[in-house]
Amino acid sequence: MQYKRPFYKKWWFWLVIAVITVFTNLGSGNNNETQSTHHSTEARSAKVEKSRKQKAAAEKRKEEKARKLAAERKKAQAKKLAAKKAKLRKKQLAQKRREKRARQLAQKRRRAQKRQLALQQKQKKQLLAQKKAQAKQAAANDRNSRTVYVAPTSGRRYHFDPNCRGLRPANGNITQMPLKEAISEGYTLCKWED
Ligand SMILES: [Zn+2]
Repeated sequence: MQYKRPFYKKWWFWLVIAVITVFTNLGSGNNNETQSTHHSTEARSAKVEKSRKQKAAAEKRKEEKARKLAAERKKAQAKKLAAKKAKLRKKQLAQKRREKRARQLAQKRRRAQKRQLALQQKQKKQLLAQKKAQAKQAAANDRNSRTVYVAPTSGRRYHFDPNCRGLRPANGNITQMPLKEAISEGYTLCKWED
């Protein structure tokens, strides 16, 4: 007869217990580990997300700053350009004014010169006319005071030359007198001396 041991003294009982314990522990440990892994992954991803957001915000700020700076620089440049243009325009205007003034002055001078020239010409003309009149008068005076020869008995002509052949028929009956007197007495210039 074999001795019957109680069931807890049998080797397979303990084996079953051990196996159950191991499995239970394994299961819960696994679960715990998974949970903690999950936890840490979540935390890490949140951290990563946060740092990514911060980075993005910083980049955005940086971009905005750069944009602002560029805009300011552009504005300053535009202002500078406008000032330069205004200065140039002012300069050109001044130059134009100067040129206009110079033109006006030159025109004025030309007109004055023209007037002066016209006046000089007029004076010259007047002087010439005066001289001419004087010469004419002198010539007339000269002519009138010249001595001429007439033959009262043989003709109505006067002669400058006392030996003129027109006087031959007078046979020495010749009278001399100023031209003016001869003309006033109706004598006319000899045909030979015309
Ligand atoms: Zn004569």
